[in-house]
Amino acid sequence: MSFLIRLTFIVIVAFLGWRFWTQSNVGSSVEQITQQVMNPKAAYCQSPLGWRLGNLDPAFNLTEAQAIRLISTAAEMWNNAVGKELLRHDPAQGFVIDFKFDARQQQLLKQRLLQRNLARYDEAIQPGLQNLPEKFAELDTKIAEFNQQKAQLQQQISQFQPNAQNAEAQRRQLEQQQQSLIREADWLEQQRQQLLRDQNYLNETIRQRNELVQTADLPTETAPFEVGLMTIKQQQRQMTLFAFSSETDLVATIAHEFGHAIGIEHTPEPDSIMFHQLNAQQQQLTAADLRAWQSTCQTQ
Ligand SMILES: [Zn+2]
Repeated sequence: MSFLIRLTFIVIVAFLGWRFWTQSNVGSSVEQITQQVMNPKAAYCQSPLGWRLGNLDPAFNLTEAQAIRLISTAAEMWNNAVGKELLRHDPAQGFVIDFKFDARQQQLLKQRLLQRNLARYDEAIQPGLQNLPEKFAELDTKIAEFNQQKAQLQQQISQFQPNAQNAEAQRRQLEQQQQSLIREADWLEQQRQQLLRDQNYLNETIRQRNELVQTADLPTETAPFEVGLMTIKQQQRQMTLFAFSSETDLVATIAHEFGHAIGIEHTPEPDSIMFHQLNAQQQQLTAADLRAWQSTCQTQ
């Protein structure tokens, strides 16, 4: 009796190159301040500095009320931190804050869309990366058990005595075991095929993700663009906002420009609002920002 149960199991999970696109500070930016009148005389330390909303490009998809609310939030950050009103909404006399739409905002929106798409790929990829090796290992164990049973049966068959007293009963039993093993082999093969399909799907998803990263218009980290600008010329202040990827970023940018409007210069601490480059660490005014304000206003 011969058994032609042969299974070839390829359980090498060859994952394609899986490189996470480092989540750089997309939307990171620097801005400049016109240094023309950046001196203590330009500082506003006593009387509140008025601001008002100027041009709001509709392409930003912000209502005037939303823009004023966000600007007010940034102003309140300074007012609360310092404990007095440094900045005041003055719709008639305040200095102008413009929202100017250009390619910068389009680039930020594109980056945000890319990040969202990559996140979706990652959600699809992660479970497979975690589970597939485990499932292949489980299948390996089952195959080892199967091979053991097969070897045992082969041994019993080789020891089978056709002329023994209960030979017919033994033969039937061995045939039943053989049938059972064939069914088991079929089932194992189905499992293996399913895992290979899962693996192919995973590899294809990873390939698509890598392709998206490669073809995407990634931000040039060496040359981040300005998202806000404060100009002070002959005591005339003007703030221009060019781009933002979230309300949090926008408020941080406005708070930063307000700092310049008051007369404060950049701080070296990356988590401070007055750091020269917008980054995710900037949430609130820090001790460094307050020191910068104190030193600005003490020189008056
Ligand atoms: Zn600045």
